[in-house]
Amino acid sequence: MQPSASLAPVTATETTRKPERWRAQWAELFTEVVTSGLCTGCAGCVVACPHDVLGYDDTNGVYRPFHLEEELGPSDCGHGQRGCTSCTRACPRFRDWETEVDTYLFGRSRGPEEIEGVSKDVFLARATDPELHSHGQDGGLVSAILLWCLDNDRIDAALVSFLEGDGTSWKAIPGLARTREEILASAGSRYTYSANTLAYAAAVEGGAERLALVGMSCQSSVPPIMRARKAG
Ligand code: SF4
Ligand code: SF4
Repeated sequence: MQPSASLAPVTATETTRKPERWRAQWAELFTEVVTSGLCTGCAGCVVACPHDVLGYDDTNGVYRPFHLEEELGPSDCGHGQRGCTSCTRACPRFRDWETEVDTYLFGRSRGPEEIEGVSKDVFLARATDPELHSHGQDGGLVSAILLWCLDNDRIDAALVSFLEGDGTSWKAIPGLARTREEILASAGSRYTYSANTLAYAAAVEGGAERLALVGMSCQSSVPPIMRARKAG
């Protein structure tokens, strides 16, 4: 007697099938994210690129990555054609990123009622240190967390933003905070975009390994998607 279709035995091939190999590189990122309107300018791709062939345009409100090598022009990458995929692995706007990050962090994707994401609880808080409180925009909580992490040897530095020049400019620029003074100088909201992830190069150069990242939600999505997709 032949087994019915619903009772057909699972074959060895089906049980051992590997996930499809990740091949997407700059060419796909350029088409699907950078030029499609999805790019947030988070610079995750720039800091992840192992061959340093991505630049970042922060002039005239552009805030987008671009490909530097002349070999294949702005829309393709020779390293990518030879197998490099770091930029698409690091991009928190590439393909099914939200489900991948939720699954990596929480073991499940968010439900339809969890528009703001998965959370255990929601708190309204502010710093108790009066100096941190007065420097902060909405109570200095982020500054207090950073300072606690530094004081308790949890981080070597934080990737933050400062105001360009002597502080009278509106333009925000990425930078490193390693001390209480630098945390205080970086406190408060910015009204121009700053890809704080770009301070990563200075952190590495300065020997900092354990880093905090302060940034918009688009930027804070970079570390988990890099971990989920093993971007290195
Ligand atoms: S494919 Fe690799 S080398 Fe090319 S831009 Fe992406 S990360 Fe950089
Ligand atoms: S990683 Fe960020 S900057 Fe790079 S393409 Fe994706 S969204 Fe844009």
